Amino acid sequence: MRYTLLLTFIIFMQTGGYTQDGKVFEAGAASSNITPKIGTSTNGYFQDNPITHIHDETYAKAIVLYDGETKLAIAVSDLCVIKRETAQNAKQRAHEITGIPMENMMLSATHTHSGGTSCPVFQSDPDPAYLTFIEERIADAIIRAHNNLQPARIGWDSGSEPDQVFCRRWNLKEPVTNPLGTKDMVAMNPGVDNPNKIDPTAPVDPELPVVVIQALTGEYIGLLANYSLHYVGGVPKGDVSADYFSLFANNMETLMGAQNQSVPFVGIMSNGTSGDINNIDFSGHFVQAKTPYVQMEYVANRLAAEAFRVVREIEYQDWVKLGSAQKDITLGIRKPTSAEVERAKDIIAKAEGPVMITREEVYARETMFMKDYPSEAPVLLQAFRIGDLAIGAIPCEPFAAIGLELKEKSAFEDMFTISLANGFHGYLPTPEQHALGGYETWRARTSHLEVNASTEIVATLLELIKSLK
Ligand SMILES: [Zn+2]
Repeated sequence: MRYTLLLTFIIFMQTGGYTQDGKVFEAGAASSNITPKIGTSTNGYFQDNPITHIHDETYAKAIVLYDGETKLAIAVSDLCVIKRETAQNAKQRAHEITGIPMENMMLSATHTHSGGTSCPVFQSDPDPAYLTFIEERIADAIIRAHNNLQPARIGWDSGSEPDQVFCRRWNLKEPVTNPLGTKDMVAMNPGVDNPNKIDPTAPVDPELPVVVIQALTGEYIGLLANYSLHYVGGVPKGDVSADYFSLFANNMETLMGAQNQSVPFVGIMSNGTSGDINNIDFSGHFVQAKTPYVQMEYVANRLAAEAFRVVREIEYQDWVKLGSAQKDITLGIRKPTSAEVERAKDIIAKAEGPVMITREEVYARETMFMKDYPSEAPVLLQAFRIGDLAIGAIPCEPFAAIGLELKEKSAFEDMFTISLANGFHGYLPTPEQHALGGYETWRARTSHLEVNASTEIVATLLELIKSLK
């Protein structure tokens, strides 16, 4: 017994992973390349977009944290969306090798619109080989981050960048007819010169939370940021690009002096609640760069400058408590009526095909998929605790107002949401925004949850967060 104690004490002194009161805190990070091959599909548009060029590589990036008791893994992939099945398979594989419980893994997509297709979205369908590849590679990022665990400290704080987020939904003076044949009181991306537009429908969330993990050697292990911006775009057709998400990460690596480390630094930008937010100012005040890739560089530079200001002021903690909670809730699906199915059949019959070109045709095709959907679906919600910080995960594209409400009502003062996480159930407008209509509410595989879904999701997530206190 005495010998064991002595041995424990010696190990204790040597590993250095322990704080002064004997607690352990470790962190590791890694990235795996998930670039799709040329000739396969990218998603994010109404028609399929086959890959002809790879402008920059896409990655699955993971951070693993360990407080001596609990291990958490956060992995963010350069994909438009991640299917629940893909996330589950990746978690399963990572669990088998690391022992980290699957419910302690949060897997999300950045929402780049120029990554490999990982889920059927409008007329893009995934290459089955690519799905297997990303399942393995996302798991690999977690396994390697776990292999890289080393004594660490952690800190976080928030910055703000209000100039790069704009509500893309505008109220209209006169209603307009949408592709489903009903009326909208709002338009997405109305155009700067549209005389029918009044003002943006909802607030933006300019917050830029930044979590930094640093090895006790002084090297930075990784950084997790979160911003509520859909994506930037400006990518030529056929190109693969991780959009501003990876440019931001590269900038942070340079600013933090973390290049060429023995264990590479991993910078991550996760997507906040950006379902109704993009980078285009329809008031015409800010004009987006038109040259490919220039605007995303500008956005990445602006955000990196602000994030680095935050990094320099972060106060680190030697140990924080980790925790996780998750719950599946059942939500209804908006199914088409038989009259709507007949209308869709009619439109498709008249279409030239096989590719659906007009919005009416594209949504008629979606209606045919939605008629075969079940009337309910399980929706997985998840919350992590990292000390006094809570991170919520929603498998949708929630509107910014939803993220703001969660931040305001969270039992943890510091809280942010990672969207497009652990699955994909399309856009998540608030009930008020559903009533106004507009692109994000049009029934499709990319927008199908019941009108009150956000109310239930917010209530459940707040409960999960509270349970972690
Ligand atoms: Zn989207």
